[in-house]
Amino acid sequence: MEHKARQILVDIFDVEDNNILSKSLTEVIARANETLDKIDDAGKLVKVQVESALQSCKGALILTLNSKEAVNWLKQPEHEMAFTEGFSKGSHIRERSFNLITPRVPIVFEPENRKHLREIEEVNSLKDYLIWKARWIKPVARRCMGQTHAYAILTVTSAEYANTLIRDGLIICGMRVRLEKQKMKLIQCMKCRKWGHFAGECPASDNICGTCGGQHHTNVCQNRSKLWCVSCQATDHASWDRNCPEFQRRCYLMDEWNPEISMPYFPMEHDWSQTARSSRISFNECFPGKFAVNSLHIHGAKLSKRRP
Ligand SMILES: [Zn+2]
Ligand SMILES: [Zn+2]
Ligand SMILES: [Zn+2]
Repeated sequence: MEHKARQILVDIFDVEDNNILSKSLTEVIARANETLDKIDDAGKLVKVQVESALQSCKGALILTLNSKEAVNWLKQPEHEMAFTEGFSKGSHIRERSFNLITPRVPIVFEPENRKHLREIEEVNSLKDYLIWKARWIKPVARRCMGQTHAYAILTVTSAEYANTLIRDGLIICGMRVRLEKQKMKLIQCMKCRKWGHFAGECPASDNICGTCGGQHHTNVCQNRSKLWCVSCQATDHASWDRNCPEFQRRCYLMDEWNPEISMPYFPMEHDWSQTARSSRISFNECFPGKFAVNSLHIHGAKLSKRRP
């Protein structure tokens, strides 16, 4: 992680007379450092130097700098601009982004308005340009009558900033909000109602109703009192039911395989960001083998629906 924090990814758009990707890595490093030395800045208190370079996928270079502070310095907009111009015309530093779910944001806030973002930074005594961009989660047109607050997503460019915001919250338009890490979600196919793929890549030829299991789209179901779960082949709940044991089993497995998901913070080198919210219950305790689905048909069985 420490090493990663010292890296930047530079997208290169080479023009004929400036073929940086055909140069040796030693030449790339020399060129980068030459460019950095030329950037005249009184605030350049830290040594800023590229130590190694690596060519990633086509058209990008990974540069490792001497320190994390050097990376932060380089990422300030005016330094970044001077560097990318001098290093390779048209290149830019690609940002890793971290999304934060922000509930209860007053709708007077305008996410596309850069002035609003700068205002939030000012009111909260945050560094300039800490908030990279913002957007509403739901389209504005789909708001209810009289709605005054909505969910937004704020994107920041470092795990450190993101974690600080999760820990301390934020004041937006006079309202204190608590931010949460955007979690990876288990997706359900809107066509066949199975888990783990989108309708666009669904191999099934017909729509399956998420409620009754008939061959029609869920929205037009005429048989809403009949329940059928495609995953469990069971009649006691619908395919979209969040208490579906197959859904819960998959969520649990996803958490187990990606421990990062259950952490409230984005993992980075600080210890406090690496604590999971609660201790885990063993898989077998949660989902006893006898309730396993897909391997065994259990029609209408009363399953242990909720996790303690
Ligand atoms: Zn599907
Ligand atoms: Zn139906
Ligand atoms: Zn089910």
